[in-house]
Formats: sequence, C-alpha cells, structure tokens
Amino acid sequence: MRHKLILDRKNCIGCNACVVASKSFDMSPMGKSYLKERGIPKSETGEEVQEIFLEEDFESSCSAAESCPTSCIHVSVKKKSKKGEEFEEKII
Ligand code: SF4
Repeated sequence: MRHKLILDRKNCIGCNACVVASKSFDMSPMGKSYLKERGIPKSETGEEVQEIFLEEDFESSCSAAESCPTSCIHVSVKKKSKKGEEFEEKII
C-alpha cells in the first residue's frame, strides 16, 4: 500500500528497534536512526524530520512505528472523501 513514512529524529534515542523492524531505517554513527533513502542528515542535532513515500512494505513501516518507544515514527495514507477530495489519514 502506498504510504508516507515520517521520522521525527529529535526524540530518537537510538534503540535500534526500527532498524530491526524495517529495511527503510539505518543507524547513523551518532546513534540516531535515519531513513536510508534520505541518507544521513548533515546535522546530527536530531532536529531533522525525514519523509519518504513507499509503494510497498506498509506492514514493516507500521511495525517500526509501533516498536518505537518515543513515538517518533509515523505512517499515513492518502484517502478520498465522499466528495472526491484527497486527504491524508494518519495511521500511527
Ligand atoms: S525505534 Fe524510535 S527511538 Fe528507536 S532508533 Fe528507531 S526512531 Fe529512534
């Protein structure tokens, strides 16, 4: 399922749970996770929010979000209202 995976790094404590749950994540040398597709952020202050759109791996994205002890991973999908307007629904 096409979805958006969001990583808000400011609260990441480097527990590694997301790296185990999903191949979209990796751990930076400074001990904070990042989204592989985005690469290691230039700043390691943890303030950066990373986002990617994925066509697959919806379950593992949700597993990563559910396993994060600081709730800094979020998953959302696009839906259409009855009037045909697109809106984003936050899953986790
Ligand atoms: S699960 Fe959360 S706290 Fe743990 S490394 Fe991943 S983003 Fe950081």
